[in-house]
Amino acid sequence: MSQPLRISLAEAVRDAAARLLRQAGWPAARLEAELLLCEAAALPRTALFIDPDQTLNAAEQASFEKLLQRRLEGEPMAYILGRRGFHALELRIAPGVLIPRPETELLVDWAVEIMPAHKPLQCADLGTGSGAIALAMAHARPAWTLYAVERDAAALAVAAGNARRLEVENVCLVQGDWLAGFACESLDLVVANPPYVRTADPHLACGDLRFEPTLALTAGVDGLSAIRRILPQAARVLRPGGRLLLEHGWQQGAEVRDLLRLAGWCGIVTRRDLAGLERATGARRAPRRQPTG
Ligand code: GLN
Repeated sequence: MSQPLRISLAEAVRDAAARLLRQAGWPAARLEAELLLCEAAALPRTALFIDPDQTLNAAEQASFEKLLQRRLEGEPMAYILGRRGFHALELRIAPGVLIPRPETELLVDWAVEIMPAHKPLQCADLGTGSGAIALAMAHARPAWTLYAVERDAAALAVAAGNARRLEVENVCLVQGDWLAGFACESLDLVVANPPYVRTADPHLACGDLRFEPTLALTAGVDGLSAIRRILPQAARVLRPGGRLLLEHGWQQGAEVRDLLRLAGWCGIVTRRDLAGLERATGARRAPRRQPTG
C-alpha cells in the first residue's frame, strides 16, 4: 500500500493560503492558514518558522483540512479556533455570542480613564455576551464590581466560563433584561455594546456577521431600538453624576447625542475609534433636581 503523501508545514501553509485567497478572497489568508494549521497540529506558531520542513502526519493533515473547509465556507476564525483576544485577555468564544471587536476596547479604555481606579465602584455591562467588556474592566480595575448582564442563558454560560478560567473574581453574572433587576440609584457606571445594526443593513449578509447571533447585532429599522430602551433604565439605576458609555454605529453619533440630550443627560461626548469613526458616546446622569417651591 502506498504511503499517503507527507507534506511539510511550509507547504501546508502555502497551499492553504492560496486556497483561502483564491476561493474566499480572505485578505489575511496567510495568517489564517498559519493559525488553523497550528490549531490542527497542536503546534506553537513559532514552529512554522523554526522547523518549516517538519511534516504533518495523516491525522494532522485531515484535521487541518477540516478546519480549512470551515473557513472556506466563511465561518469566523474566532468560532473555529474558539478564542479571541480582547484588551488584555484571551476569551473563549462560541457560536451564540458576538465576537469581540477591537473597536470595542475603546469602551474599556474610556471607563478606566475617567472613573476613579481605587474606589469600590458598582458597574454594569449590558448584553455582555462572552463577557469581554465586563471581564476586561474587572481585570484592569480589581476594586470595582462588574455586573455582567445577559438575557441569553447560553451566552451567559460562555461569560461564566471565561470568568472562571481567567480567575476574575470581581464580576457577577446576572441573567436579565438590561437593567430591569437593578435598584434605583445603585450604580456608578453603565457600559454597553448593544445591538445597533439596522435590520435591513446589507452588511448582515457579509463576512462574520452571517454567523453571529442576530439578537446581538440588530436593533429595529434604525438600529437604535436597544439604545432607546437602555437610556431611561440607565437614568433610573445610575446615581446622580453616574456615567453611561455606549458603543454605536459609526453613523449614529449625532442621533445618539440627540437622544441623550432630549432625555436630559449632561456632559455628552462622542469618541472615535482607531479608524477615526464615531464609535462610542458617553454622558453623565444629571444631578438630582432640587424640589421647587
Ligand atoms: N460593530 C458590529 C458590526 O457592525 C456590530 C456590533 C453591535 O451591533 N453591537 O460589525
